[in-house]
Amino acid sequence: MRAVVVRSHGGPEVLESAEVDAPTPGAGEVLVEVAAAGVNYIDTYHRTGAYPLPLPFTPGLEGAGRVVAVGEGVTEFAVGDRVAWGNTLGSYAEHAVVPVSDAIAVPDGVDLEIAGGALLQGMTAHYLTHSTYPVRQGDAVLVHAAAGGMGLALTQFVKALGGRVIGTVSTEEKERLAREAGADEVIRYTETDDLAAEVRRLTDGAGVAAVYDGVGATTFDASLASLRPRGVLALFGAASGPVPPVDPQRLNAAGSVFLTRPTLKHHVASREELTWRAGDVFRAIAEGTLTIRVGHRYPLAEAATAHADLQGRRTTGKLVLLPR
Ligand code: NDP
Repeated sequence: MRAVVVRSHGGPEVLESAEVDAPTPGAGEVLVEVAAAGVNYIDTYHRTGAYPLPLPFTPGLEGAGRVVAVGEGVTEFAVGDRVAWGNTLGSYAEHAVVPVSDAIAVPDGVDLEIAGGALLQGMTAHYLTHSTYPVRQGDAVLVHAAAGGMGLALTQFVKALGGRVIGTVSTEEKERLAREAGADEVIRYTETDDLAAEVRRLTDGAGVAAVYDGVGATTFDASLASLRPRGVLALFGAASGPVPPVDPQRLNAAGSVFLTRPTLKHHVASREELTWRAGDVFRAIAEGTLTIRVGHRYPLAEAATAHADLQGRRTTGKLVLLPR
């Protein structure tokens, strides 16, 4: 089968399209013919070695497709079932072995391309808005990179919970998409000298209840300065680079605020929590309160272009690789 293989860490060029042996499912696993593999920022960290994995490996944690074989003892899924997953390495391939513990049945009416790009960002947006800072009716929150994969999902979840979204973006086109997803206010942070002052102006001086910040280095200071007293800064990523060490005293000065650096795996650690979040994501898609906007589709062999586009700030919404 064709698969993307990383044999040494580096830039997008180390994503090599290769012919490899098709995997076989072991006990408690299913073999899936991949219809779509989601591209996520974490895949770029696996590629560069910022989050090291043993070499060689096939990247990609997320995807969806049809079960073509089941391993020993599997009773939950059968050949022909449509499944999606958000935390199984090896998704950039024509076939992927997925443990039953990570597989979620795709409901009728949800397209496999959408399902393949739904769970990782969808469940992350779910835990950020339901667990890290549970959004309440009328809360104003700040969502950075609001036209990105995470940003669009966060914006829609916050709006469904009755919150008010102030989004940040870099371009006019991204502003349009953020507004379409429901953002109430959009700030072009690349054109603003004092982002926190702008947030305060939009909240009558109060500041926001929470900031969902996946941008990191370039936004952190403004994020902290945008919070209301006892607000929550959920720093969930670092698209612009890592945040330097922080003196805890700054949290006092900012108004007894809370800083957390959460990640998905700690929010889907049990099967019960995984099925709750995945179920909510697929239900929201089916009901139309969550639209996964696939902004870019690439053949498997063009995974390098997908990574370069994502890291080059040229994308909007979700990126997917289509193996065939
Ligand atoms: P996005 O689609 O949001 O792409 C990144 C966006 O960040 C860009 O489009 C850009 O939007 C903005 N950005 C600002 N500065 C930079 C920069 N210097 N270089 C690149 N991008 C920049 O990506 P994802 O939705 O895949 O991921 C967003 C963040 O969420 C990442 O940091 C990722 O690691 C994190 N994440 C964390 C998870 C967790 O559980 N902790 C799970 C999933 C994702 P603009 O041009 O508008 O500024």
